[in-house]
Amino acid sequence: MQTMTASPMMFPVHSYEYREFPAGTDQSSAYIPLPDVQIRTSGGLSIPAHASILASVSPVLENMLDRPRKRRSSEKIIPILGVPCESVKAFVRFLYSSSRCSDEDMVNYGMHLLALSHVFSVPQLKQRCTRTLCARLTVDNVVDVLQLARLCDAPDLHLKCMKFLSNEFKAVEQTEGWKFLQDHDPWLELEILQFLDEVDSRQKRRSRKREEQNLYVELSEAMECLEHICTEGCTIVGPYDKEPPTKNRGPCNKFTTCQGLQLLIRHFAGCGKRVNGGCRRCKRMWQLLRLHSSICDQPDFCKVPLCRQFKLRTQLEKKGDDARWRLLVRRVMSAKAMYSLSLSKRKREEGPREAIHANPPRTRSFTTL
Ligand SMILES: [Zn+2]
Ligand SMILES: [Zn+2]
Ligand SMILES: [Zn+2]
Repeated sequence: MQTMTASPMMFPVHSYEYREFPAGTDQSSAYIPLPDVQIRTSGGLSIPAHASILASVSPVLENMLDRPRKRRSSEKIIPILGVPCESVKAFVRFLYSSSRCSDEDMVNYGMHLLALSHVFSVPQLKQRCTRTLCARLTVDNVVDVLQLARLCDAPDLHLKCMKFLSNEFKAVEQTEGWKFLQDHDPWLELEILQFLDEVDSRQKRRSRKREEQNLYVELSEAMECLEHICTEGCTIVGPYDKEPPTKNRGPCNKFTTCQGLQLLIRHFAGCGKRVNGGCRRCKRMWQLLRLHSSICDQPDFCKVPLCRQFKLRTQLEKKGDDARWRLLVRRVMSAKAMYSLSLSKRKREEGPREAIHANPPRTRSFTTL
C-alpha cells in the first residue's frame, strides 16, 4: 500500500494523509478522513480522493465539486476521460503532493499531464511538464508536442519546438508526424514554414552584419598598419626621413597584413597608370590614404602620405564628404577605438612598453626597397 502526504505548504487548511485504498483494505483509520470523491478514468478505474484537496489545487475541480448534486447523499464523481488511467493516477498524486509525481511519471505521461494541467488549471504541473518535454524533444515527437503546446497555451514549449524544428527540419520533414500535420493542419504547417523563413532571413542578416563588421575591423587594422609603416617603417617600406629598410630583416610580427600593404604601397609609388589611368590596386591605396586622412586627428605631425592634402581638399571643396563615406569613417573609427582599447588592455596586462608615436617627424612620404 502506498502512502501519500499532502504538503502542508500546498494545503495549509488540510494537512492530512491520502491513501489509495486497494480492495479489502481497512479504511477506518482514525487519522485519515475518508475519501469523499471518486475520480473515474476511461479504463473504468475509480480513484478515491478528498474533495477539499482537489479543490485547493485546481479551481476547475473546485467548480466541478461545487456543482449541486441530484441527491445530497450521492457520491461525488469526477470523470477524467480520454487519457490513460496511469496518467490520471499520476495527476492525482501531483494534486496531493508535487513530489509524489515522479520523474518517471513525467517521462511516461508528460504529454497527458500537460493536457491535464491545462484543462484543470494547475500551473505548477504545467511548468514541470513544459520543462520535461522541452528536455525530451526528438525528431519524432516534436510535431505532436508542438500541436499540444499550441492547444495547451504553453508558449515556452511552443518556442522551443519551433527552434528545434528549424534546426532539424530536414529530418522532421521525413517523419509520419509531419506528413500527418500537412494533411490535417495546413495552418500550423504555414506557421512553421513562416517561422523557418524568418529564422533563415534573420541568420542571413546577422551574417551580413558580421561580414560588414569584419570589414570595418580589417580597415581599422589597415589604418594602424599604415601608420606603423609610415612612422616606424617595416620590412620593405619605410618613412622618407629614415634609412631604407634592410633586406635581411625578418617578416613583420606586428600585423599579418603588413607585407601585403607594403607591396601595395610599393606598387602605388611606382605605378605608371596611377588612379587616373584606372589601376585597381592604386585606387585601393588611394582609398586607404583618404580613409586615413578622414580619421587622422594629427595631420600636422602625421607621416602618412597625402594626409594633409586630403584634409585641405575637403576643406577647400567645402561640401565635405558624402553620407556613405562619413558612415564608413564612423564605423572604422569605432572599430579602431575597440582595437586600441583591447590593445591597451593587453599592454596593461603585459606591462609598460615604449610608446610608438612618441615624437613623430614631419615627413610625408616613404622610402621603398
Ligand atoms: Zn610591419
Ligand atoms: Zn597602380
Ligand atoms: Zn594622418
